Amino acid sequence: MGQCTLCNIQTKFVDAHIIPKWAYRYLYPEDKEAKKKSLIFVSKEQPVKRPIGIYDSNILCAECDKILGKLDEYGKVVLLDKKFIKYKNTDYIYFLETVDVNKLKLFLLSILWRSSISKRKEFNRINIGPYEEKIRNILILQKENKTKQIIDYDFIITKFEDGDFPNINQKNIQIPRCEKIDSVNMGVIYFPRGIKVYVKVDQRPFPSNLQKVTAGSIKEGALVISMGRFQESNDFVSLLRTINNNKNHGYSTK
Ligand SMILES: [Zn+2]
Repeated sequence: MGQCTLCNIQTKFVDAHIIPKWAYRYLYPEDKEAKKKSLIFVSKEQPVKRPIGIYDSNILCAECDKILGKLDEYGKVVLLDKKFIKYKNTDYIYFLETVDVNKLKLFLLSILWRSSISKRKEFNRINIGPYEEKIRNILILQKENKTKQIIDYDFIITKFEDGDFPNINQKNIQIPRCEKIDSVNMGVIYFPRGIKVYVKVDQRPFPSNLQKVTAGSIKEGALVISMGRFQESNDFVSLLRTINNNKNHGYSTK
């Protein structure tokens, strides 16, 4: 028993998912024990791989978890199920067709919010401070079916190309974290298929060159920017370091 972090009602908690279940199912399709599997944690100081539950049992009541679960379903429809379509014959820009960008934004905000309020130590690299309460208010409106167009929190969807390691690129995700781009605060969320999303959690605007590539900046759907091959990214370097580190410590990655 305790107070639900979303509706503030005294309640019995449920196992609330922070990273959506579908992401894990995709990573471990045949595995009923996926809850006990690991996620990669990458930090500049010491990358580690730790077992992680996919839920927090001290944050949400059943009703609120259900509301966020519906957003999770929409996230799957867009980020896992939709095809990447080349945008105007360019090589490095794609889009996802017929996307309700506002609804997708709600889903992304709900993940940032859940990650930030969670006291689980795995999520200690994400803290959105005063935005927790702002986003909570947005999610409450959603719960009451009073959702409006959310004007702030623009986001950029990027994806890595498979290169020589399709399996690693497609099936590797990291825990959400905070990052700065040109000193503007971002929440960073990873999904399967090499997807990495930057959500602006800051009153300042995106630098103007980035403003042009936010997900909602074209009418055909949600824009997706290629980040090039995963094997050439900093994320890949960090991942290798993590795996090597684990090997050195006799840590099984299975
Ligand atoms: Zn609740």
